[in-house]
Amino acid sequence: MIEIDGSFGEGGGQILRTSLSLSALTGQPFRLTRIRAGRPRPGLMRQHLTAVEAAAAICGAETSGAAVGSDALTFAPSAVRGGNYRFAIGSAGSTTLVLQTVLLPLLLRAGEASRLVIEGGTHNPYAPPFDFIEKVYLPLLRRMGAPVGATLERHGFYPAGGGRLRVTIAPVPKLSALELVARGACLERHAVALSSAVRPSVGRDEAEQVARLLGWPDSCAQSRQVQSPGPGNVAFAWVRHEQLDELFTAFGGPGVSREAVAQRAADQMRRYLETGAVAGPYLADQLLVPLALAGSGRFRTLAPTAHTATNIEMIKRFLPVAFRVSEACGDTVEIEVQS
Ligand code: AMP
Repeated sequence: MIEIDGSFGEGGGQILRTSLSLSALTGQPFRLTRIRAGRPRPGLMRQHLTAVEAAAAICGAETSGAAVGSDALTFAPSAVRGGNYRFAIGSAGSTTLVLQTVLLPLLLRAGEASRLVIEGGTHNPYAPPFDFIEKVYLPLLRRMGAPVGATLERHGFYPAGGGRLRVTIAPVPKLSALELVARGACLERHAVALSSAVRPSVGRDEAEQVARLLGWPDSCAQSRQVQSPGPGNVAFAWVRHEQLDELFTAFGGPGVSREAVAQRAADQMRRYLETGAVAGPYLADQLLVPLALAGSGRFRTLAPTAHTATNIEMIKRFLPVAFRVSEACGDTVEIEVQS
């Protein structure tokens, strides 16, 4: 039984999700205590509980402590089974974080294909928006040999939620290594704003300002109204390079000006482009598990975030891998997985 202190490092939900994924992948049971002790409202929240239930469903796990508010969980996995699954978070909790939990076990350990429907929030603060999963994360997984597809059937913005993703996963025995040491030439640049039940001028101004702040032509700006059960507004700065896409996000909301939203999306993109990093800070922590499972690979990124540092420690608890973090040029570091 692997014992994990949920308060260590970043002290958030990622410790839980990485434990669930790697437990299902390796068959090793774990006990997690002080769950999300580093957060203002610690313990399992609705979306974390859905992640636990989803992971338990795909690998027939026995659990104790799986309840909203619980600060300790025991998880003992059995074999991973593919098939049709529907996970409904029942709040605006993030669908993409539930996907992050079950995707790799279904990909690498199930004997058959899987089709998932996940309902809840698709565009939530502090989680990957669906667009990041679609444009940044999944294309890299596919490059590692993973036949995975995802479609967004309905947007779900925090706090109303009510969105829906559909995901198809065909199993593969192994992931291949991934090397991301240069971005390659820039192919496309997009400043995008999405809004539901928010005046069209808000998204239009945000998209135009993101483009202007980054010195991109007006033709890069695009704003769209989308159908969603509740109101919402989000702006993205999205670049396509030869080797990967990157996308940075800022949410609008009550009391947040359109200027502030545009500034936040543009600032993240500017920093990324100025430093020569290949993976941005969010992608960096999300690439660690796939690379560790591939057993080999490296990428250049910005100084490791607390999420990245914590995830490295978590992965080493379950898998016999080492990570080398070394300084690269400018402000960047190179993270290499060695098995
Ligand atoms: P936690 O805070 O522990 O629940 O983990 C949040 C996860 O969501 C991490 O894997 C982050 O990289 C990811 N994440 C948060 N915000 C974004 C964003 N704007 N774009 C992409 N991923 C994000």
